[in-house]
Amino acid sequence: MRLSFSSRLGLSLLTLVLTVLLGMNFYFPGVLRRQAEASGFDQLQAIARLAEFQGPAPDAVNARNTWVQDIALRSGVRVTILDRQGQVLADSQRDAETTADQSNQPEFRQALQGVGRAVRHDQILNCDVLYLAVSPAASGAPRDGNTTSPYVLRFALPLRAVDQTISGVRRRFWTGALLFLIISGSVFFLVSATISRRIKKLQEFSRRIAAGDFRPVELQPNGGELGGLARALNHTAGHLDKTIQVLTDERNRSAAILRSMVEGVAVISAQEKILFSNKAFSQILGLDTVAVEGRPLLEVVRHSNLLAIIKKTLATQEEFSSEVMMGTVQPRSFGVTAAPVKADGPAGAVLVLHDISELRRLERVRQDFVANISHEFRTPLTAIQGFAETLLGGALDDPVNRRRFVEIIRDHAARLARLTEDLLKLSRIEAGQLNLEFRPVSVHSLVESCLDTARLKAVPKELSVAADLPPDLPLVRGDANRLREVLQNLLDNALQYTPPGGSILVSASRRDDQVVITVADTGIGIPQAEQSRIFERFYRVDAARSREAGGTGLGLSIARHIMDAHGGGLWLESAVGEGSRFHFSIPIAS
Ligand code: ADP
Repeated sequence: MRLSFSSRLGLSLLTLVLTVLLGMNFYFPGVLRRQAEASGFDQLQAIARLAEFQGPAPDAVNARNTWVQDIALRSGVRVTILDRQGQVLADSQRDAETTADQSNQPEFRQALQGVGRAVRHDQILNCDVLYLAVSPAASGAPRDGNTTSPYVLRFALPLRAVDQTISGVRRRFWTGALLFLIISGSVFFLVSATISRRIKKLQEFSRRIAAGDFRPVELQPNGGELGGLARALNHTAGHLDKTIQVLTDERNRSAAILRSMVEGVAVISAQEKILFSNKAFSQILGLDTVAVEGRPLLEVVRHSNLLAIIKKTLATQEEFSSEVMMGTVQPRSFGVTAAPVKADGPAGAVLVLHDISELRRLERVRQDFVANISHEFRTPLTAIQGFAETLLGGALDDPVNRRRFVEIIRDHAARLARLTEDLLKLSRIEAGQLNLEFRPVSVHSLVESCLDTARLKAVPKELSVAADLPPDLPLVRGDANRLREVLQNLLDNALQYTPPGGSILVSASRRDDQVVITVADTGIGIPQAEQSRIFERFYRVDAARSREAGGTGLGLSIARHIMDAHGGGLWLESAVGEGSRFHFSIPIAS
């Protein structure tokens, strides 16, 4: 059984008080008794001296009895005369015959040498009695010159009064002690009940803190030490509350950041279990988001390169980076970094997956671009070099071919110039240096200015070029020169890819807050699969035909960039053998 603090304190105090009281109970009556005995003996001694002073006891039995009664009457003590063998000769209270032989009593034996003292219980009186025995000759100066007196005088004083006093004192003492115990016990009970109530409150409070409830405990006006403790606990709870709040906020912020990151992040324990992973991580690995955390790494990650890098980090506690491909249908490249994380116990690893597919694609595009440029430049350069060498090798003197050779060189040089110009334009556009001058532009005048040039080119190709524009078209907002460039390019392509006898029609219509201009031809059309690619740089459906016609493969790419910069669009509809319809939209001028 576990006792409360106040019960234990109460029991200890009670034991202490009882021990003290019992000690006093045994010590003080003893002292009193010893004092009473000492003064009793002193009294008996004085009586003995007086008796001696009265002269020796007479020898005759009657006279002896009278002598004894006389002294007993005067002194108030029992007086006995004994012979030296211990036989009672006279006794002030009892008959000499009825009194037993006293030779064995200690006071008697001591008295033979001088003075004898003894304390003994008396059966008849039923109390303790002090005995003092003297041998008159031995104690006093011999009156007849005889050193040994034939008598021993014994004086007896009952201690009844002393015993009564002592038991009275004892009674009062215990009554007082009982009263003291009751009063002090009640006070102790009241005080300890208050204290234990307050301690219980503090216990309750600390339990609340452990459960995360930091509301302060109620303070008592005169709190004393417990009040001080309560104040200190309130202060600690407040501080804890604030610290936990700060930590929780920080953790929530970190979790929110990690969750919203586009990079896949996972924390792996030293036991190769997933401790944390964000949504992006699950998406990259194609996992069910909910069930990832707590699962063994091997169950979740099947990618051998990824597993290898994690294991290497866990084993060496060093950071490693690598690149992995994920996904089978649409493979994507990821930069992987695995770094050790120090936590309690053995260190785990944090894994970050960063999608670098776009970066790799751009790298490929750049490589393709460089390869394309080299390829585009090589043909005219080879031609120029070849014909120049032919001329130098003697053809200069050949009046039939030299002009044709020089014309070929000129055409290829012009092609190189066009290529260079288009490339410069493209790079300026991509570098954001297009410097468009936006002004309200009339669609009618835009179309008319381009149609004139197109009609000229159409005649030798036996093509008809026409425009069908509604009269109430609003002005559009754009750079007239650039828009003309776009329309011109579309018309050039239509002229280029439409066989003789075909027709080209430019139309326009308002669609919401834009004007859409359409260039429709009855040409060869573009296969569905190629339609999205013709806007790429150098992409041509039929490269040989395009080159033959002096095309660079950059026209549509430049046109789309220009339309994007206008906040408009460029798209097409086409079917092989039926013709193509290129549309571009321009925002209306406000
Ligand atoms: P190019 O200088 O080769 O014309 P473009 O970028 O203008 O380059 O066009 C890219 C490719 O798109 C052309 O090579 C051609 O194959 C295709 N194309 C463009 N316009 C038409 C059209 N109106 N009809 C058929 N094919 C076209």
